[in-house]
Amino acid sequence: MTSEQQASERAAALDCLRRGQRFALMLHVRPDGDSIGSSLALGLALRRLGKTAVLVRADDLPANLLFLPGIEEFVHYSEVGGEFDAAVFLDCGDLDRIGPAKILVERARRLVNIDHHPSNQRFGDVNVIEPRAAAAGEVAHALIRELGVSLDFPIACALYVALITDTGSFRYENTSAATHEIAAELLRAGVKPAEVARAVWEDRSLSSLRLLQAALAALEVSGDGRLAWTTLTREDFQRAGAHSLESEGIVNYPRTLRGVEIAALFLEEAPGEVKVSLRSNRRVDVSLIASHFGGGGHARAAGCTIRAPLAEARELVLARAREALGGGRAAG
Ligand code: 5GP
Ligand code: MN
Repeated sequence: MTSEQQASERAAALDCLRRGQRFALMLHVRPDGDSIGSSLALGLALRRLGKTAVLVRADDLPANLLFLPGIEEFVHYSEVGGEFDAAVFLDCGDLDRIGPAKILVERARRLVNIDHHPSNQRFGDVNVIEPRAAAAGEVAHALIRELGVSLDFPIACALYVALITDTGSFRYENTSAATHEIAAELLRAGVKPAEVARAVWEDRSLSSLRLLQAALAALEVSGDGRLAWTTLTREDFQRAGAHSLESEGIVNYPRTLRGVEIAALFLEEAPGEVKVSLRSNRRVDVSLIASHFGGGGHARAAGCTIRAPLAEARELVLARAREALGGGRAAG
């Protein structure tokens, strides 16, 4: 996509945001820091312009993000009434990502799709898709600037959380000079990086550490060391007393093992329903593996949900992963 096309997409979105009066901002299921941060920031910015912005969730919010100012504004989709000039989607590669909240789509005159997933399905009437952005929060930041809203503390915190969660605190290869420039601006608006980092990464529940313990106990590595995975069953969650969202970040442990190219986490969400998280380090585009099973994501972080018994789902994905590594049986 050329920069002119990108500019005209942004202009169409801004036009829609400026003209509309009542908006719904839609979180995706199992919302992460980017979904929450970018939606909260844009929602608060629209309110600053005197508009109504309803912040809509379909799932529980992760406990480590409840410190964000304004987070209490999110309402469950089942409690949302009325019609909307536009439903705004941030960080949603496809429309199914919003889960049951999809029923609100019929009450929106327009769909505004703002994202950074290269695999985005362009399901909106307006689509602002910027794959080079490290987070949807980067795109939201640009739009907020162009709307003429200055960065107040709650907006800056929300954008900062979007940046650090999608870049692993500026460690992943999506991190750019622009990411750091935006972060600098957010710090000038009052964000305290150590405080945010502590709240997001270092204020863990005992149940989440117990879950990590179970995941590390179940760690497996292929013979050639290039593929590492772990599994969390329903029982693991029950024993740890953990919420399903507390598995966030666990897939990074197998990823950090020296020599590993692909890491996977298999999470038994319900009997016969397996959520798969995929990560790669340098070479393999794991979004292709996830897409094969109806999911999607980025080259280095992707996911999908497979309806099959745990062991079967795991074998299906591992077979694809071995193929992607190009090692055939050697990887097994
Ligand atoms: P995670 O493994 O942390 O759940 O997700 C990593 C990334 O993969 C997310 O940021 C998102 O881009 C993508 N992703 C995860 N699950 C799904 C899914 O079910 N469908 C699609 N389209 N993308 C997903
Ligand atoms: Mn994102």
